[in-house]
Amino acid sequence: MIRVHDLTVRYGAQLALDAASTTFEAGQFTAIIGPNGAGKSTLLKALLGLVEPSSGRIELEAGQTRLRDQVAYVPQQQALDWAFPVTVWDTAMMGRTARLGWLRWPGRQDRRIVTEALQQTEVHDLRDRPIQALSGGQRQRVLLARMLARQASVLLLDEPLTGVDASTQERIMALLRQQADQGRTVVMVTHDLEAAARWCDRLVLVNRTVLAQGTPDQVYTPANVEATFSSSHLGHSHAQA
Ligand code: ADP
Ligand code: MG
Repeated sequence: MIRVHDLTVRYGAQLALDAASTTFEAGQFTAIIGPNGAGKSTLLKALLGLVEPSSGRIELEAGQTRLRDQVAYVPQQQALDWAFPVTVWDTAMMGRTARLGWLRWPGRQDRRIVTEALQQTEVHDLRDRPIQALSGGQRQRVLLARMLARQASVLLLDEPLTGVDASTQERIMALLRQQADQGRTVVMVTHDLEAAARWCDRLVLVNRTVLAQGTPDQVYTPANVEATFSSSHLGHSHAQA
């Protein structure tokens, strides 16, 4: 279990998260939901240790090692350099090399794991293509294959449904559901409340802080949706960070 206590994150004068508290459990598929600029990506980055909180803390269950060693992270697609000249296969293999360290050449076991990951996300046929030649949905599936190849116990995904057609969205949600059912901790950022309510165990509504959390039945109410998506919390911040 991952516990987030009163997490506050600032970027200079910009308050991105203000005393946000929540928990993420193994075997559960949790969605972090909120509008643009709500602090969703910041919450994932704090879990990864990529941003330093100005106060509050993140606590792991006793016996767990550093979160970074057991996490697979899928960043927002826009945050990546798709002009980088690598193939689908090489991109998915990064899920292995990142774990093994650069000095170890990937072995037969690594190639088997990458092959299976590419098959699971239905992009194995594209393995020799350069990533810049792919559609948005294909790119997202390559990122998911890289995530699966990592064989991590905690999966953090930032907007994996954005820029993806409806049938691919369904497949992505089914895949993540399956990962949680196998005992992994799955946390996905999205602004798609409908999809989240249908597939996730827990919803965490975020707009600068955690406004509501619980099962979809508990959380998905008109009052909560209004409170989360009304612009009054945000001022005029529409950054696509
Ligand atoms: P979300 O992912 O919900 O759209 P973010 O966590 O990316 O929101 O951003 C939360 C707030 O912090 C926004 O107002 C955004 O403009 C600001 N922000 C995010 N990253 C940075 C950064 N690196 N420098 C300055 N401000 C940032
Ligand atoms: Mg974001």
